[in-house]
Amino acid sequence: MRIPFNKPLVLGNELEAIQSVFAGGQFSGNGRFTEAVQQQLEDHFGFTKALLTTSCTSALELTAELLEIKPGDEVIVPSFAFITTANAFASRGAKVVFVDSREDHPSIDENQIDQHITSKTKAIVVLHYGGVACNMDVILAIANKHGLPIIEDNAQGIGALYKDQPLGGIGSLGALSFHQTKNIHCGEGGAIIVSDSKYADRSEVVWDMGTNRKAFKAGKIDSYEWIDRGGSYYPSELNAAFLHTQLGVLDEVNKKMLSLWKNYKQGLTSLEEKGVVKTPQVPDYANHNGHIFYLVTRSKTERDNLISWLKEGGVGSAFHFQSLHRSPFYPKSSYATEMPNADKFSERLVRLPLYFGLSDSGQKEVIEIIQDYFSK
Ligand SMILES: *Cc1c(COP(=O)(O)O)cnc(C)c1O
Repeated sequence: MRIPFNKPLVLGNELEAIQSVFAGGQFSGNGRFTEAVQQQLEDHFGFTKALLTTSCTSALELTAELLEIKPGDEVIVPSFAFITTANAFASRGAKVVFVDSREDHPSIDENQIDQHITSKTKAIVVLHYGGVACNMDVILAIANKHGLPIIEDNAQGIGALYKDQPLGGIGSLGALSFHQTKNIHCGEGGAIIVSDSKYADRSEVVWDMGTNRKAFKAGKIDSYEWIDRGGSYYPSELNAAFLHTQLGVLDEVNKKMLSLWKNYKQGLTSLEEKGVVKTPQVPDYANHNGHIFYLVTRSKTERDNLISWLKEGGVGSAFHFQSLHRSPFYPKSSYATEMPNADKFSERLVRLPLYFGLSDSGQKEVIEIIQDYFSK
């Protein structure tokens, strides 16, 4: 592919940080780089607590453990989502209750949440698609009315804001991803953001295999013990060192992503005016991080043909999530409602190449190839 769909961010000096792990001799996790990255996240965004994990998926699993999700519970999740956004809760036996996307945006339709809440509902999970914030004031009001925690799947939105609030730190708990496809990364990695102080102490225990090792490290107790459920959640220092370097340039990376995003918007608006595609809509309350630029075509066939056309032109592109309420694993009796918007974005959305290393000339070519497709 001349212009691939994605290229993982590589700065070059990640190796220096990794070298210093070799020099220091601690390769396993929860060492000085893990601590430094957690501090970086807390300082930069004002998060109350950030704990590094091996992925966003494991951070979501950790949220499910902190909420003590069990069989019989219900959890609200958008249907247009990543598999593990739902699986983190389904794996613990919860019934996942899916909610449709907004008509004008792939994220959850805030006006359809309330009707799905029952006495068994334990949490509302939201996903800020492409780093574009969900309508959090409305969702917080619903959550408060029912006394429910909000979990933010903020895998895509590091550095993005709802009004002036960093995504991931608005709900009770949030999850970030540092997978290589995100704006910044460490190959595989993630973080849980703990904003509700109610979960603070237990998050440290569950994160560290269900032990009170934190108190031990702080010299408060003589030896650490098994005191709760838990798992092995943190990444190695090699990953944390890599991430430390990339997190240091997050603002610069996001600025470039946003500028590329705006170029697409400008270059493809004429097609929107002609009525042949839709470009992403960003509500006034959202300050996003340019993570995804997509088009919504008039039909699935047109979307698939456009992907093939781009491929012939040497350009990678990709569709995205498939409505989870239609998945083979989701029990058919569990869904009664149709979700036309989630289905629309499953069938008609295509993502364009967008990454820090994308050149202006490369991007111009992508725009021209798309313009050509719609004028043939
Ligand atoms: C990438 C992604 C994930 C998964 O992240 P991992 O770090 O690979 O587990 C979860 N949710 C969303 C919305 C994502 O985009």
